[in-house]
Amino acid sequence: MAKKKIMRCSYCGKSAVLKPASEIFHDDRKGYVCVCSHYPACDAYVCTYPDTKIPMGTLANAPLRKKRILAHQSFDQIWKRNILSRDQAYRWLADKLGIPLNQTHIALFGDYLCDQVISESRKVLVNNKKSCVA
Ligand SMILES: [Zn+2]
Repeated sequence: MAKKKIMRCSYCGKSAVLKPASEIFHDDRKGYVCVCSHYPACDAYVCTYPDTKIPMGTLANAPLRKKRILAHQSFDQIWKRNILSRDQAYRWLADKLGIPLNQTHIALFGDYLCDQVISESRKVLVNNKKSCVA
C-alpha cells in the first residue's frame, strides 16, 4: 500500500483532506484528522493513527462514528476479558463476518458490519460471563 490514494467521502463524493485535529475538535489535541473537504457541511471524518497522517479507516458521519465506537467497545471486551487473545479475537471476527483478516478493522466498517460486530460480540460475552464481570 505504498501508493498514496486520495480518499473520497462516501457521503458526498468530495475528496478528503488532512486537517489538524485541534481545528476540528476545537481543543488542543495533537495529531490529524482526515476530513471531508466539504466539512462541516458534510460531517464526515476519521481520525489518523497517533503520530501519523494515516487515516484509521474510511470517513464516517456522526451516527457511524458512534456505531464504530460501540462496535469497538463490544468487541474489545472479548480480548480485554481474556476470552480470546487480541489476535484470536480478530481472526474470530474476520471468520464471523466472512471478510479477510487484513480488512478486519472496525474503522473500515459501515453500519451493517458494525451491527454484526456488536451482535456477535455480545453473544460471545454472554456465553463467557465470568464472575468478575460487573
Ligand atoms: Zn462529505
